[in-house]
Amino acid sequence: MTGPEWSRSDLSGPHHMFPAMLPRVACRDHRGHHPWRHIGLYPDWTIKFVGRLPDGRLGLTIHASKTILILAGLTQAQRRSTLCHEVGHMLRGPASVCRELYEESLVERQAARLLLPSVRRVGHALAYHHADYKKTADDLWTDENLLNVRLSTLPPKDREWLRHQMDLILL
Ligand SMILES: [Zn+2]
Repeated sequence: MTGPEWSRSDLSGPHHMFPAMLPRVACRDHRGHHPWRHIGLYPDWTIKFVGRLPDGRLGLTIHASKTILILAGLTQAQRRSTLCHEVGHMLRGPASVCRELYEESLVERQAARLLLPSVRRVGHALAYHHADYKKTADDLWTDENLLNVRLSTLPPKDREWLRHQMDLILL
């Protein structure tokens, strides 16, 4: 996962889900998908917090040593979002260099849908915070990247619903 400067313009394309065997019950709590429980199902993997990562990254998955590195000093919402993204890389396995960009956008879309499953809830939070993305993301306990990705990859019907809601509220 990279910082906000990373371009996420090319997020169109078919939807991809986590493998069908994602044990949803074991990965959830009352707030929905729980990345820390999810990674807990893979005890041979280690999470390490590090002071520095290359290229402005917030997280890094190293398949060879079964380690996920997460930048120290992130907010709880950022840690949670980053871990959810990196677990996506973990599950999909190493990618060749030429597929890196594809993998990045794919696991980011997966993480966005896992952490923000309800478009309705996103819409209500956006309305409540007058379309302030930062406050909305905080409220939904994710980072702004994932909120942006979720919003930019909505199916047409959901997008239409959201636009309608925003029109009503922001008049
Ligand atoms: Zn990534």
